[in-house]
Amino acid sequence: MRKIPCSGCSLLCDDIIVRSDGIFIDEVIGACLKGKERFDQVTAKNRIVTPMIRDDSDLKKSSWDEAFKKVTKLLKNSNKPLLYGFSTVSCEAQLKGLELANLLNGFIDSNSTICQGKVLNMAKETGLTLTTISEAINKADLLIVWGANAAESIPRLFNKTLFSRGKFRMTGREIKTLVIIDPVKTASFGVMGVRDIALQINPGEDINLIKVLKEECCNPGSIASEGVAGIDNDDLKRLLLHLTGAENGIIFIGQGLLKTQSKKSVIRELLELVQMINVKQQKGRISVILIGGHYNMLGFDHVALSNYGKNHSLQFSNNQLIDTDDTIVSKIEREDFDCSIIVGTDPISHLPQELSKKLAKKPLILVDNKKSATLRIADVVLPSTITGIESEGLAFRLDHVPIELKKIVNPPSNIFSDEEILNQIIEKFKLK
Ligand code: SF4
Repeated sequence: MRKIPCSGCSLLCDDIIVRSDGIFIDEVIGACLKGKERFDQVTAKNRIVTPMIRDDSDLKKSSWDEAFKKVTKLLKNSNKPLLYGFSTVSCEAQLKGLELANLLNGFIDSNSTICQGKVLNMAKETGLTLTTISEAINKADLLIVWGANAAESIPRLFNKTLFSRGKFRMTGREIKTLVIIDPVKTASFGVMGVRDIALQINPGEDINLIKVLKEECCNPGSIASEGVAGIDNDDLKRLLLHLTGAENGIIFIGQGLLKTQSKKSVIRELLELVQMINVKQQKGRISVILIGGHYNMLGFDHVALSNYGKNHSLQFSNNQLIDTDDTIVSKIEREDFDCSIIVGTDPISHLPQELSKKLAKKPLILVDNKKSATLRIADVVLPSTITGIESEGLAFRLDHVPIELKKIVNPPSNIFSDEEILNQIIEKFKLK
């Protein structure tokens, strides 16, 4: 029996017990269904276990040698490679990805750029009060989940933060107030108790709510009698009372909030509201935790920032980082690339159709461990190990705490980790 972290989502629960002889996993104790699925992925039907090369219109199995030769040829003929993904790989693989982008004079970005990275970028201007899951377990008295269905996307988040009994208090759930702000009545609403506050906001009107809260902080009594954004006056007052009176309040920011129309301003307004409350608060504080889906989405921000001074949209030229206003979306939109390397993600399923079509027009190299829509259009497929089960590596939990992922079983024969694959691409490219 071994205690290991789960890489099923960005909570990276480090209390999972696994029984294994190093070849098979016999038992997994403590993981949620999503976590169990991650362990089941080892033998899943959609697992990729051999390299593949497109021959005419079909993907055909190949040797690693042939696959790497094809990759090197594609990259030698490319002047504007695009590298994207990297949120479901280790920090070591992310570093190799950045090294490869530098070597190829390419453009690199991670999924974070269209998700929680927006908050980190805005925080450079507004500041950001962070906290940890341990603080949430031990000290939180107010949990606000904004634009996220935590019960399904991070299944054990509520177990850990809402239903836990803190180390420094003899109380748990009974003193914790849960507020959920979402236009959709998701499964998360099912965990709410009588003291909690369920706010079904009008879609896309989060910014109006935040502005009213800011205004009320500066100028009490300014809330209109009819409420705002579909939330009535009484609920607004209760929300504000909790925000300004909490000893340890935490706002979990989900993708729902990041996807609203005026993305930049809604994030700015929210971070400013948090700072405003914290300046006024004498006894307590409000902190923020970003809920990202992929287990190491934050890792790319940390690795890129600490090595290159920039966390997103890195453009290299003459093997140096240069300034650019481009994003992954603008690069694909303008078709300003001639080849792409996709690592551990499925942009063909996730990006809007117009962008997917443009991405599919140019040669695509895929590094991943499971079949996806992107595999269907890839020119070369390089199968990788499942990090946290078949290979080890570092990942950053959603509260920015680094967690060491473990290897518990050997991968199928001849499968390399993402880090090893990217390293081999670098070495083979240098040799040619
Ligand atoms: S909550 Fe996430 S990290 Fe924890 S067991 Fe479930 S999938 Fe794994």
